[in-house]
Amino acid sequence: MHPLLQQSCSGDANATDCELSLSEHYRILDELTEAGCLWLLFTGGGDFFNAMINLRRDCSQTSLDVRLTPAEVVKLDLKYPERVYDWKCFAARLNHAAIDLDRAENLHACGAGHNSFAIDPYGRLGLCVLSTTDSYDLRQGCFKEGWGKHLAAVRREKASQITKCTTCRLKSMCGICPANSVLECMDAEEPVDFLCQVAHLRAYALDLPIAPHGECEYCRDGSRYEDIMNTIEDLKGC
Ligand code: SF4
Repeated sequence: MHPLLQQSCSGDANATDCELSLSEHYRILDELTEAGCLWLLFTGGGDFFNAMINLRRDCSQTSLDVRLTPAEVVKLDLKYPERVYDWKCFAARLNHAAIDLDRAENLHACGAGHNSFAIDPYGRLGLCVLSTTDSYDLRQGCFKEGWGKHLAAVRREKASQITKCTTCRLKSMCGICPANSVLECMDAEEPVDFLCQVAHLRAYALDLPIAPHGECEYCRDGSRYEDIMNTIEDLKGC
């Protein structure tokens, strides 16, 4: 048996803070199967890697000790021609797409809560593995209710403000999302500086177009544009 499943809930523990019992695991898995959920296992091989380390779910900063700098991330891209080619194809497909302003009003733009979800070891159903807010306690209810009503309502949330991310066409490349913003900035709508730096550096290094998207320190005339150009010069000199 998996060690996680062997941990039992102590009588005086807060019900929301202890791991699921084995019977709760089985009940939830049965519900997911009945709901026709598709389970996918993502694996990586060859030179597949993801340099974008995020903060831990408890917002601890310890993962930053091993996170590469934005320049190091892009330097790694440049080391692999196949990776450069893939980024260019990806950008050709997504960077030019016109921003649908109706969709841009939505807080959540990815597939989380639409075609995927995550359940943590405490039985909390959430939009994704990074999302720490708006979860639904499967021990107190059922998957159908959590998915069909609770997460559906979370998915319909609207953004409350226009930011530099609202119409930014680099969004798909940078990976900004409410969950990442909460982890890094404690605000679901705040741009994450690390992601923004990497996306702009990558775009400049690979000659990808950057459409205007409001006041942005990394775009031409922005307060940090010169810094980022100096970094590009350093990268090209490597
Ligand atoms: S690149 Fe910057 S401005 Fe664009 S979506 Fe990402 S964080 Fe927002």
